[in-house]
Amino acid sequence: MLSQQILDLLKREISPSEYQRFIKPLIFDEKHSSSDTVVFLAPNKLLVKWIQTRYAEKIGHIYESLTGTSPTVHIEYQNTPVDVNSYEKKPKPSKNKAASTILNTAYTFENFVVGTSNQLAFAAAKSAAKAPGQQYNPLFIYGGSGLGKTHLIQAIGNYAISQGETVIYITSEQFLNDFLYNLRNQTMDRFRQKYRQCDFLLIDDIQFLSNKEQTQEEFFHTFNELYSLHKQIVLTSDKPPKKIAGFEERLTSRFEWGLMADVQPPGLETKLSIIKKKCELDNIDLDDEVIHYIAVHMKDNIREIESAIIYLNAHANLLSRKITIDFATEVMKDLIKERVVNISLDDIIKVIARELNVKPSDIKSKKRSQPIVEARRIGIYLAKSLTPENKMKDLAEFFGLNDHTAVSHAMKKINELLKTDENFRIKVEELKGKITSSKSVSCE
Ligand code: ADP
Ligand code: MG
Repeated sequence: MLSQQILDLLKREISPSEYQRFIKPLIFDEKHSSSDTVVFLAPNKLLVKWIQTRYAEKIGHIYESLTGTSPTVHIEYQNTPVDVNSYEKKPKPSKNKAASTILNTAYTFENFVVGTSNQLAFAAAKSAAKAPGQQYNPLFIYGGSGLGKTHLIQAIGNYAISQGETVIYITSEQFLNDFLYNLRNQTMDRFRQKYRQCDFLLIDDIQFLSNKEQTQEEFFHTFNELYSLHKQIVLTSDKPPKKIAGFEERLTSRFEWGLMADVQPPGLETKLSIIKKKCELDNIDLDDEVIHYIAVHMKDNIREIESAIIYLNAHANLLSRKITIDFATEVMKDLIKERVVNISLDDIIKVIARELNVKPSDIKSKKRSQPIVEARRIGIYLAKSLTPENKMKDLAEFFGLNDHTAVSHAMKKINELLKTDENFRIKVEELKGKITSSKSVSCE
């Protein structure tokens, strides 16, 4: 079964005790899973978030390496996910699950900490939610990773749903998949009906539609239709419209029609408030000294700060320890040591080429001699786990392969080898260590 295969592969990437504690008890939730959402159930409420933060992304990558599609992975605790479609005023007979998306009910305006770094985006999001289709249409929120864009766009969705509005929240990748699905099945009228009849169209990470001309064309018409009906459109991206490459001008200029608001890295005060807020929401008791330690030692990505809190708390619970500053320092030391920044594909190739005695240019070539093929496969495997920002197609391009299926094939081969050949596994682990140690940062 695919789900078991995924967990088996994950087993090889983590320590046996981690696997026993966190992964083995997971149950695949077939009912709520679809082609782009994979749901696993955890029997322990306390650890749901921990598993989500620490393993969901890894599970997604393994899934992608096996199937070529990259789903969102959710870890749930027996609760039924909130399905946006079920809130719609007019139920839509859509059988295509690609568009039904789970909104995180914790992503509300109340749970968002406002500071100078994000106050404009926050105020604009609130206005768009309360007075849709008016002043801030479209609302375009942009900024770096982990700074609250998804939280804000979903807060708009959660608020609108509470007002009985029809909301579609979707990532641009899901939009693309939904579009292709309906195109293939000749059900574009259904697609158009769905996207053009909502009150709020919220598209997260719009930058992924870059160079997808056909989908952009469809989105252009969706945008125009909704805009002329004064329906609210909200988009997020890692960059401002003009800086996103691979977009038609007529679209980026429309993105600028309403309001563009950025989210900046938070200052120390905001970081402290966010940590306090997260502790309050998750019922985690941290004293001020520990909170300060986290705020100072973790960088600005709030997702990482959150996982540090969850990590600390999970350790304390599992070991039945109180979170003192000493305990926090000890536990966080590992975490900080583990944080690896800015590994590039070239860094990976450089180390592999040196250690395996092949030329970097050969790894990226089409040469088929055995040592080069092996070096290339290891490169692909490590690139997938160390540079998660790269999609399969990016790796195909970088390693000189024809397309993402060739990457999947290489991943399959290497996974087989890792399973059967202990020496090979050790060799790959060592290479990984060499790459990461050359790049590890300590915040001390
Ligand atoms: P992005 O979409 O910008 O990458 P997210 O919205 O996913 O970032 O934020 C990452 C995590 O940090 C989320 O769990 C979110 O709740 C939290 N977060 C970010 N900014 C804030 C904030 N100002 N207040 C509270 N939580 C925040
Ligand atoms: Mg996001």
